[in-house]
Order: sequence, then structure tokens, then C-alpha cells
Amino acid sequence: MSTGRLTIDLDAVVANWRALDDMTNCKTAAVVKADGYGLGAANVAKALFKAGVRQFFVAIAEEAVALREELGDKSEINVFSGHMKGDTDLIRELGLTPMLNSVDQMTHHFETLPGHPFGIQLDTGMNRLGMEPQEWAAVAELALSQGPRLVMSHLACADEPDHPMNPHQLGIFKQLTDGINVPRSLAATGGILLGPDYHFDVTRPGIGLYGGQPFAHAQPVVELDLPVIQTRDLAEGEVVGYGNTWQADRPSRIATVSGGYADGIFRILSDKATLYHLDQPCKLVGRVSMDLLTIDITDLSDTPDKLTLIGPQQGVDQLAKSANTIGYEVLTQLGGRYNRKTFGK
Ligand SMILES: *Cc1c(COP(=O)(O)O)cnc(C)c1O
Repeated sequence: MSTGRLTIDLDAVVANWRALDDMTNCKTAAVVKADGYGLGAANVAKALFKAGVRQFFVAIAEEAVALREELGDKSEINVFSGHMKGDTDLIRELGLTPMLNSVDQMTHHFETLPGHPFGIQLDTGMNRLGMEPQEWAAVAELALSQGPRLVMSHLACADEPDHPMNPHQLGIFKQLTDGINVPRSLAATGGILLGPDYHFDVTRPGIGLYGGQPFAHAQPVVELDLPVIQTRDLAEGEVVGYGNTWQADRPSRIATVSGGYADGIFRILSDKATLYHLDQPCKLVGRVSMDLLTIDITDLSDTPDKLTLIGPQQGVDQLAKSANTIGYEVLTQLGGRYNRKTFGK
């Protein structure tokens, strides 16, 4: 077997959901967009459904197809991108709840699917998705008369607890929604950690479920082990890999492992990443290739048959930091070639 082994712990996902749910007195949904942050939306949703989750969020309507099949009709599936032209059939057939982001989307929804469930997304300053306050002022009465399931907005800086944008957006959200008789949602993972002022009626954690920052107490969900295909001994002065970017400054032992940038191991990790043999760190040397990495195992006393890129010694966020990115990107880029072992409920 020469593919990396990606282990996905669904019990940890459920434990993370419970831990986030326990921090609030409101409902906790689950965000499973981007194929459950790369870990398999259907498997993740199934495990969370068993744990009692009945409200899920995806980014685009197409992502709901596999989910609806897995979940049956007893869950609400909300779509952040709202109701785009071309989505109407999916929204009707799968019974999706689009979060309407503009007056245009609202008009389209009411015309094509009158009486069909919907929610409203408001922009409170992130300037990405949702109705602007002036738009909302113009259509709030009409929208509310049609019984939206949810009114939501999204925080831009929730991973920085002291950022003034947080109370700023909270204030605007309250101005726009205080007194309406509709469930409200503002918090994703970061917002949950900001405390009860931010919780409203429903929270929408994503990354925290999958073991990522800013949920520092999350249980790790993934482990990634890469098989060693070959090892070789280098004399001092020999070079390794494309561009000869690394040169041995002592007699060295190099392991070539299966996995590369085509598997989501970013090329920027060239000469930067660390892999582990149990608790012993081994440096990635030379360039990350499409399918292979070269690792300095000179200091190991034995030759391992695999090296760990994500595991107990190095979590998703630590690896992300070496690549100058965030855990979200590491997870969602995990490649399709891995031998995926999903265990748990
Ligand atoms: C992705 C997303 C979430 C989940 O965010 P996390 O930071 O992963 O918890 C919630 N709401 C919206 C609108 C999103 O786009």
C-alpha cells in the first residue's frame, strides 16, 4: 500500500459538537460545507444526526444532495449562498432552506417557490454575503410576513476575542433584529467562544467540530500517516530533490514517503515541515513534489515504515502554521488519494 492513511474519528467530531453545545443554552447546528471540511459530509452528518443534530448548513445547494440522501427528511438543511437562479429545482426537491442574501434572491424565491421555507442572511459589516441594513429596512416587513425560519449574520473577526469588530457587528445585528419573532443566529465556532451575548437562538459551528482553532479544547479528529517507499544513505555534499534545494551537511539517511502537493501537502512546506516517527521529529528536506516528500531520518535508530504528518505530535493547526495558513485550508485540501479510514458512530 503506497497511499497515505487518513484516519477520521467521528466520535471526536461528536464529542466536539457536544462540548460546543454545552457552552450555550441555545440550539447548536452543524456546518458541513466543503464535504464536511474535507472529512466526508455524509459520514459526519450521519454521526451528528445520531447525536441529535437536526440542523445543518452547506455553502451551496449542490452540497445538499449527498446530505439529504444520508439524513432523510427529518433534518433542516440550510444553504448559505441562498437561492440562486438554477437552484430552484434542488431547493424544492431536496426541501432545502436557502438563506436569502439580497432583495433579488428574495423576489426570486417568493416568485418561484411561494410558501417554501427560507431564512435571511444580513450583512453586519463583513461585506461578503447578506442583505445590507438599508435593503433589510426596505423588505423586512414583507420578509417577516412570510415567516422566515432563521435570521442570521456572520462575524468577521470572531477568532480574535478582543477585536472591536465583534461588539460592533453584535450591535448592528441587534439593531436589525431585536424584537422580531424569528430565531436568530450570529455565532460560528469563534462566536460561541465569545460568550452568551453572541449565542442568540442557534449557533453554527464548523471548524470546532473538526478539531480546529479557535476551539482550543477540541479533540483532534484526523491523523495522517504517510508510508515510506524507499530509504537511502547520502554522503555529505549530496543533494535532494527538484532544484537541489537541500544539500546534506553530514552523512544522512533520507526516507522518500508517499504524499505531495497533489494530496494537499502544500508546496510551501518545502524545507519547512516536520514529520514524526512516534514522538521523534524528522525534518522534511528539499522540495515537496506532486506525489512524494523526502524526509531526513538520520537521527532515527530504526527505519520506520511510515511517518506521521498530522497526529498527536502535530495537529492540523500546527501544520497549517508551518504553511503560513489556517487549519481550515489544511483540512479542506486533504486529497482524494488517501486511504480513508473513518471510524466511530
Ligand atoms: C463557514 C461558516 C460557518 C462555520 O464557521 P467556523 O468558523 O468553521 O465555525 C458559519 N457561518 C457561515 C456563514 C460560514 O460561512
